Amino acid sequence: MKSASLSRRDRLRHMLADLRMPGGLEALDAILQGVDGGTLTAPEAIEQLLAAQIQLRNNRRLQAAMRSSRLPVVKQLHEFDFTFQPSLRREQMESLHELGFVERHENVIFLGPPGVGKTHLAISLAIAAAQSGRRVYYGTLADLITSLEEAQAAGRLQARLKVLTHPALLVVDEIGYLPITRTGAMLFFQLMTRRYEHASTVLTSNKGFEEWGDVFGDDVMAAALIDRLVHHCHLVTIRGNSYRMRQHSELWQTLHTAHEPESAGGRRRRTPVRQEATTT
Ligand code: ADP
Ligand code: MG
Repeated sequence: MKSASLSRRDRLRHMLADLRMPGGLEALDAILQGVDGGTLTAPEAIEQLLAAQIQLRNNRRLQAAMRSSRLPVVKQLHEFDFTFQPSLRREQMESLHELGFVERHENVIFLGPPGVGKTHLAISLAIAAAQSGRRVYYGTLADLITSLEEAQAAGRLQARLKVLTHPALLVVDEIGYLPITRTGAMLFFQLMTRRYEHASTVLTSNKGFEEWGDVFGDDVMAAALIDRLVHHCHLVTIRGNSYRMRQHSELWQTLHTAHEPESAGGRRRRTPVRQEATTT
C-alpha cells in the first residue's frame, strides 16, 4: 500500500478495516466532519470513534446471545421505571449491572409478587453480562428441570449438567409457580451445587424462602439449597404493585373515559382492577 500518497482519511479507513472495526469505520466521516467544522475536539473524536465501535460490538454480542441463551425478550435497565417501584434502590441495581457480582461468582435473588419486574431485571442483568462478552443462559425452573430430566432419561445427565454449569451467568426464572417433582428438585439441587462458588446464578421467585420447602417438596433440601444460594448473594426483595396491572388499569381508564359520553345503556364495566388478581 502506498500509504504516503493516501489522505489521512483514507489511511484511517484502512487502519480501521485492518483492525476490523466496522463500527468506527462507519462513524468516521461524520466524526472527521465534526473535527473539521470545529464542533469536536480531538479527544472527543477519539472517544466517539471508539464508542461507535463498542456499540456495534455490544449489539452483535447481544444478537448472538439472544440466539444462544434462550432469553425470551430484550429488557434493559434503562427501560425500568424506578418511580413505579420505590422499594427498589436504583443505585443497587446500577451497581449490580456493573457485573462485579459475576466476577466474584455471587448470586442475585429477586423475590416479590407477580408483575413487579423480577424477570425484567434478571434479563437485563443477563443482557449486560452478554454485552460484556460473557456466556449467559436463561430458563424457567420448570424448563431447566425438564431438560435435566430428559438428559437423565437419555443417559446424558453429566453432559447436560456440564453445559448448564458453564455459563458465567445463569438465570433461573419463576421459582414457585409450578409444582416440581422430587427427582426434579434433586436434579436442580445438583446443578446449583455445581455452580456454587463457581459461577453466578440469578434467581427469581414469587415465594419467600419459608415457602421453598413446599416448592421443592422437601424442607431439608430446600434449606440446603437456600444455604448455598444465599452464601454469596444479593437479595433483592421487591414489595410493590404489579406493573402489568398498572398497564391494565391505564387501559381500563382510557377505555372507560372514551366510552363515558355514550354511557346510557353502554357496556361499561365499573369493576375496579384489583392489584392482587394478577397471574403470570
Ligand atoms: P415479574 O417477573 O416480577 O412477574 P416482569 O418482570 O415479568 O414481572 O414484569 C411484567 C411486565 O412489566 C414486563 O413487561 C416488564 O418489562 C414490565 N415492568 C415491570 N416493572 C416495570 C418497571 N418498574 N418499569 C418498566 N417496566 C416494568
Ligand atoms: Mg417473572
